[in-house]
Amino acid sequence: MINIKNNIDKIKAQIQQACQENGRLISHSGLSSSSSPVSLLAVSKTKPAALIKQAHIAGQNDFGENYLQEALEKITELAHLPHLVWHFIGPIQSNKTKQIASNFSWVHSVDREKIVLRLNQHLLNDETHNTPLNICLQVNISNESSKSGVAINEVFALAEIVNNCDKLTLRGLMAVPEKSAENACYEQMQNLFEQLKKSYPSVDTLSLGMSNDLEQAIAHGSTMVRIGTAIFGERTNKT
Ligand SMILES: *Cc1c(COP(=O)(O)O)cnc(C)c1O
Repeated sequence: MINIKNNIDKIKAQIQQACQENGRLISHSGLSSSSSPVSLLAVSKTKPAALIKQAHIAGQNDFGENYLQEALEKITELAHLPHLVWHFIGPIQSNKTKQIASNFSWVHSVDREKIVLRLNQHLLNDETHNTPLNICLQVNISNESSKSGVAINEVFALAEIVNNCDKLTLRGLMAVPEKSAENACYEQMQNLFEQLKKSYPSVDTLSLGMSNDLEQAIAHGSTMVRIGTAIFGERTNKT
């Protein structure tokens, strides 16, 4: 049987190691513990609620999901667990924005104006919803027309639109580099993130790195890695 706690401990050690090797550990003088500059998002797509529960017992609170219907079932089933934070990281259809806005705390895969405006409008309409939705813009780093993500030269225009929305907080950028992408790809994301940070004080998140490129991502300034396979095992059905 898969040992979720073991896997999470291993990933955390790997994150810690990569931070150390890249001079990214912040030491708080006088305090015995230092918080990691890289947070861990556990990607639970296609995996059952029971495994998410195990991860939660192991101390994991942030979970990423790609498919809305599947996610909503798990969010409902696990609603009793304290401190869970749900991140939507999959492609967004505009007719799904209402449910995404009301059930998730973060959306990493925002890549066009229409989606931004719809997410904001749903929250404006919902008087019971008081916390702003955290937004990362997904960047099409490989510039392939087939992949989702905003083009690099359109990132700042879209960031400004998010920043002007009352119910959204611009937190940063997300990317899914293709397998064995060049370092230049990561450097480009790092530069873009540094530029964005200068323009918007709310920006603090570079969502970059998965099971196979975690070290490379941390070497290039990632502040949040999205790990599925290395925590929950291989996915069999969808990918
Ligand atoms: C599936 C997925 C992940 C996790 O990938 P692993 O290789 O299983 O760690 C991360 N980010 C996104 C956007 C994904 O779709």
